[in-house]
Amino acid sequence: MRLAVYPGSFDPVTNGHKDIIARAAQLFDAVIVLVSVNAGKHPSFSTTERVNMLLEITKDFENVRVDINDGLLVDYVKRVGAVAIVRGLRAVSDFEYEFQMALANKNLYDGAETVFLTTSTQNMYLSSSVVKEIACFGGDISHFVPESILGAITERLTNKK
Ligand code: ADP
Repeated sequence: MRLAVYPGSFDPVTNGHKDIIARAAQLFDAVIVLVSVNAGKHPSFSTTERVNMLLEITKDFENVRVDINDGLLVDYVKRVGAVAIVRGLRAVSDFEYEFQMALANKNLYDGAETVFLTTSTQNMYLSSSVVKEIACFGGDISHFVPESILGAITERLTNKK
């Protein structure tokens, strides 16, 4: 049973994240999408909202689960017995941070490998921040987020303004 953990903020989840989840689900026996409760960041969506959106978009993937982590990633990975940490790479700009995190995690825990999946071309410029910025100004984000959560994201970000 080869289990992978895909950690992130998912604030909110985008088509780019969903694509990585789908591809990881093909590569591994099971995947846990792990919502990081990062105290250093101020997410726009609450942990519950982020989890609910992920549950909605992953409901058809039989080998994908969603969980929350408020501790050190490697402690979680070790606890569940995962063999891989999945991350997505968009551009060179992602590389330095991701490389640093992968090395740090490997240093802390040698039992799992960080596996990078390159973005699909259509998601190359897609990030949660871009989605939030466009939606806040009333722009169309329908090409950027899964259809089943489009209403929830739009309503939430528009109301916030
Ligand atoms: P974090 O705050 O941990 O970076 P994010 O939710 O921003 O959380 O991203 C989680 C992971 O998903 C990261 O590895 C990021 O590079 C990847 N990712 C985000 N957007 C995309 C995308 N459009 N295509 C591929 N990977 C992506």
